[in-house]
Amino acid sequence: MTTYQLGILKGDDIGLEVVPAAIQVLQTALTAFPDVQVEWMDLPVGYPSYLQSGETLPQETMEALKQMDGWILGPIGHAAYPKNDQKAINPHPIIRRVFDLHSNIRPSRSYPNVTSIHKNVDLILVRENNEGFQPDRNLFAGSGEFMPNPDLAMSVRVISRRNSEAVAETAFRLAQKRKKKVSVLHKNTVFKLGCGLFVDSCRKIGGQYPDVEYEEIHVDTAAALLVMKPQKFDVLVTTNMFGDILSDLTSGLVGGLGMAPGLCIGPKYSMAQATHGSAPDIAGKQLANPYAMIMSGKMLIEWLGIKHNDSSLLKTAQRIDEAVSTVIESGIVTPDMGGKATTTEMTHAICACLDKK
Ligand code: NAD
Repeated sequence: MTTYQLGILKGDDIGLEVVPAAIQVLQTALTAFPDVQVEWMDLPVGYPSYLQSGETLPQETMEALKQMDGWILGPIGHAAYPKNDQKAINPHPIIRRVFDLHSNIRPSRSYPNVTSIHKNVDLILVRENNEGFQPDRNLFAGSGEFMPNPDLAMSVRVISRRNSEAVAETAFRLAQKRKKKVSVLHKNTVFKLGCGLFVDSCRKIGGQYPDVEYEEIHVDTAAALLVMKPQKFDVLVTTNMFGDILSDLTSGLVGGLGMAPGLCIGPKYSMAQATHGSAPDIAGKQLANPYAMIMSGKMLIEWLGIKHNDSSLLKTAQRIDEAVSTVIESGIVTPDMGGKATTTEMTHAICACLDKK
């Protein structure tokens, strides 16, 4: 019997609906493997935590995460947090940085039954997670944005060899198990040093994977190609801000943000985190698509399965994948996917499918 400790951080708004949905699916899938036991721990985060303790990211949560094998983080509605309270911080950049979750893996996959701009899309965008232009996470102290005078704002972009090589490594490892192609997206014609260092790092790592096709594409050209011919891509790797924008674009190719799962990984920890935000416009209405969060949870289980060489976890992930595909085919899906099911109905349909297997 192997026991894993997994954290549950529900987040805000639709997080309170889609995170429990993901846990329910994972637990149902895991029941087929009595040799695996998961101990779940609910940890406070986000606005519900702020209302309870005055902090959106309590120190106890950070301490507890250190003991976990991984965790699920729901979307964070930080745009609505009080602006004048230092304790109402955006938790997820801090969690990503403290736990060194340098690579953010964001797949986009089309399904025949789901209305989408493109069919036969199956790509993964790997985004550097802790540097780039993101001013709330790219410095040890202070902010990467500042205003020397009221009419001038400056933003610092950080690119390190260490993190560039780390995300490249993540991308090549993924590609090796897929269609064996990595596309490096950059703008080294303008950012000669920053993107230059990023591309050099990717070339170096690419040299260690001779069986994987390697290409470099200017990020603006890549944006057009992704819209016109997304089928030509397998794994894409890029810096933080480019990846942030393009991973929302790739979700749009296959049906929208509800179809965009994600996994943040580092040397020790991994965190399931969907690409979408907390969607306050649909929160509490049973309209949230649980796909992204469920498949993020599936990615976490798969990643732990690879890390611990645990075939039961790998089979659990496979079972979730198959059950989700079956339910999508049957049309029991939320309105954003063209169906009429509620969040709960779609989740129950996936669990029922897992129970039957
Ligand atoms: P959003 O992703 O929350 O919503 C954009 C649109 O997509 C909305 O119309 C929403 O209804 C829809 N949508 C998102 N997820 C969906 C789902 N699972 N099913 C169906 N429809 C879904 O982005 P936003 O409106 O720009 O931001 C809302 C809040 O989320 C803000 O506070 C923002 O700062 C935060 N945010 C958090 C994250 C994160 O936690 N990773 C990411 C982006 C935005």
